[in-house]
Amino acid sequence: MALRFYNTLTQQKELFTPLQDKVVRMYTCGPTVYNYVHIGNLRTFTFQDILRRVLAARGYTLDHVMNITDVEDKIIRDAAAAHQTIFEFTETYTKGFLEDCATLRLQRPEKLVKATDHIDDMAHAIQQLEEKGFTYTSEGSVYFRIASFPGYGKLSHNDFSGIRAGARVDVDEYDKDNARDFVLWKAQKDGEPAWDEPIGKGRPGWHIECSVMAMKYLGDTLDIHTGGVDLTFPHHENEIAQAEALSGKPFARYWLHAEHLSVDGQKMSKSLGNFYTIRDLVAKGYSPESVRYLLASAPYRTKLNFTFKGLTDSAANIERLRNFKLRVETDKFADGVNPALDARAQAAVTAFDEALDDDLNTAEALGAMFEYVRDTNVAMDAGEFLADNRRAALDFLNRFDAIFDVLKPTPHAARGPSDSEIEALIAERTAAKKARGFARADEIRAQLASQGIVLEDTKEGVRWKRQ
Ligand code: AMP
Ligand code: ZN
Repeated sequence: MALRFYNTLTQQKELFTPLQDKVVRMYTCGPTVYNYVHIGNLRTFTFQDILRRVLAARGYTLDHVMNITDVEDKIIRDAAAAHQTIFEFTETYTKGFLEDCATLRLQRPEKLVKATDHIDDMAHAIQQLEEKGFTYTSEGSVYFRIASFPGYGKLSHNDFSGIRAGARVDVDEYDKDNARDFVLWKAQKDGEPAWDEPIGKGRPGWHIECSVMAMKYLGDTLDIHTGGVDLTFPHHENEIAQAEALSGKPFARYWLHAEHLSVDGQKMSKSLGNFYTIRDLVAKGYSPESVRYLLASAPYRTKLNFTFKGLTDSAANIERLRNFKLRVETDKFADGVNPALDARAQAAVTAFDEALDDDLNTAEALGAMFEYVRDTNVAMDAGEFLADNRRAALDFLNRFDAIFDVLKPTPHAARGPSDSEIEALIAERTAAKKARGFARADEIRAQLASQGIVLEDTKEGVRWKRQ
């Protein structure tokens, strides 16, 4: 069976074929960089990484674009509170995002593009939408009139006919004719960053960013568009309306949405305060690979509930696979090849590939690997596994790791200091303080703090903990 994806647009699993031979043009909605991303966000980005790797394993070349939303209401609010420009403020979190992706071994998209580098393109697109009659202006801001786009609702499968009649469903800061008409260009308000464009002085709305950057780099029609399920409506619905109103062509052929990561049954989110970053978990001593494994282990369209037990189980599973690989590599086996065991490996590879082909069923793919490991360990114990069976076993492990990428341990240095390193630094700090070397003492405290380790000076001495 060939690669199939569940397409939100058609609500069906469909055979995947790109428009152009072996190249996949794909767009991903990237982060809004006003804070470190949490592992809920990273679940969605891990799904995209698995998708990339499966496409590459099937022989496709990727042309993948991800945006960085670096101008937006929350960014403007928080940058002002930090007494920074939006550029200074977002640089920290853009860098943080890229570090976090690297920690989780997420491949970089071919192009990472910032909204603020494309304001002229967005203003120009809005002007074209105006000329085509899809917009109206109110107090200097420009809105998209959804009633003028007949396909509105086709992605989220909502019937908006009632809403079009004028029911106001949310009160935004701007005046709107229709309840869900959305803003394309926001007129400047006091103290806010703005760009001087022929359509006025202001800044783009969030939705127009993605349509404009996706079409600029990937053409009018993309193969795949991805994001978290919460973006289906209104963000992706609005992206379709803008893009198709501009080009008159279908915007994206396959829409793939990742389900949420939850905690105690609730969506992990910044606003609920129930979130962890990858930095938090690594500082607590969990390996990046166990987080990656956990996030990748559930098929992307099922909800995944985050627990610490899930993380330790993931670490144990990785350990099992590493031990198996070590055994294949280093145990002494009798010469020859046992054809039945090579056939067993081949069957496992087929089951693994078929699971991933079936809308990236990672849980079944992992199942195929673990059944193989169990059977092969039994065969090894019975002396049936022979030296020339190694090749097929290692080929399967490599094939597995090209997708899951958890077998190589992250060097400890990349994960922050160990207990003994922390204690050595604390001893050095205590000695420095005694010798009145307060600058060095402060430096050590700051260094540990930046790695999530807090010190508490007590009568009994220094206590420390990982945050
Ligand atoms: P944001 O920075 O809020 O735009 O989110 C970046 C990406 O993370 C989007 O694709 C969201 O849909 C996704 N996302 C946000 N919260 C979660 C969650 N709890 N689980 C999975 N994905 C999420
Ligand atoms: Zn987007």
